[in-house]
Formats: sequence, C-alpha cells, structure tokens
Amino acid sequence: MRAKHQRRRPTQQQQTVKRRRTCRFCDNKEIYIDYKDEKKLQRFITEEGKIIPKRVTGTCAKHQRELVAAIKRARHLALLPFVTDAIR
Ligand SMILES: [Zn+2]
Repeated sequence: MRAKHQRRRPTQQQQTVKRRRTCRFCDNKEIYIDYKDEKKLQRFITEEGKIIPKRVTGTCAKHQRELVAAIKRARHLALLPFVTDAIR
C-alpha cells in the first residue's frame, strides 16, 4: 500500500496587503527608532500592547529587531504598556 503522497500545492496565494512592502525605516533614513518616542512606537503595538509582527507592518528584519528592542526598553521605562485591558 502506498501512502498518499498528494502534494498540497499552495493554490491560493494569501492576499496580504502588498502595498507596504518596503520598510519605512529603510525608506526614510531620517526616522530614528527612538525608545523615548512612545508615539512612534505605539504605531507598532496593538491596543493590547502586543508588538505587531513585521509581516503586517512591512518592517525589515533589521529594523524590526531594533524596534522590538526599543519597545521593550520603553516598556521598562513605563512609556508603553506590557499589556492593556483591551476593550472587548
Ligand atoms: Zn528597514
């Protein structure tokens, strides 16, 4: 007996938002990831206080890493929340 080896091909390509494929920090070299700038960092966390994955924001790996470090630093300084009670 042969095991079913039907390869599942990725037929439907997930329709992700492809508009923002470029990293905004690479685009604009003027923007510096500043842990003291919680307004800027807030755009990369959800209402619950979670860090938004880079596949959503389009940030490149290098800058996402810096961003995560900055967010964590900001959390430590109580500029950003670790977690918030999301309005459900
Ligand atoms: Zn980048």
